[in-house]
Amino acid sequence: MTDIVIEKDMVATVHYTGTFPENEEEFDSSKGGEPLSFLVGHKQMIPGFEREMMGAMAGEKRTFTLPPEDAYGQPSDENIVELSKEQFGEITPTEGMMLMSDAGPFKVVGVNEETVKVDFNHPMAGRALKFEVELVEVRKASAEELLHGHAHGPGGYQH
Ligand code: ZN
Repeated sequence: MTDIVIEKDMVATVHYTGTFPENEEEFDSSKGGEPLSFLVGHKQMIPGFEREMMGAMAGEKRTFTLPPEDAYGQPSDENIVELSKEQFGEITPTEGMMLMSDAGPFKVVGVNEETVKVDFNHPMAGRALKFEVELVEVRKASAEELLHGHAHGPGGYQH
C-alpha cells in the first residue's frame, strides 16, 4: 500500500486562502465555505499552484508565493483593444466598468466619441500571489472526470 499523493489525473480537494504578498490583502478564500475540488494536470488551476502542491498528502498544509509568471502572467498591451460603441448595444460603457464577453471578462479603460478602449488582461496579471493551502482529500479521478477535464462532486462541477 502506497500513500495517495497529488499527481496528474488525481482529484484534489483543498481549503485555501490567497493574499497579495506585498500588503497581505486577501483576494480569495474557501474558508467558511465548501473546499475547492480540481482535476490535477488539466489546466483547471494556475500552473504554479499545482506545481507547488505536487506530492502532497491529505491533511498536509503548504504555503507558497508565486511570481506573476506562475500565476496569471504579465499584462500585455496586446490585450488592450478598441471596440466600436455599437458593439455594446444597450450598455453605456463608462470607465472602470467590468463587463463579460465571449472572449472573457474585460475592463473599460477609456471612452471616446465612437470607440471604447477595453482591457482583456486578467485583473491579477502582473501580481505575485501567496497561497496557504490545506489538502483536505486526494483521490483518483473517474473516467468521466478525465473525459470532461474537471472534477465532479462537492467543490467541483455538479452536472
Ligand atoms: Zn463534467
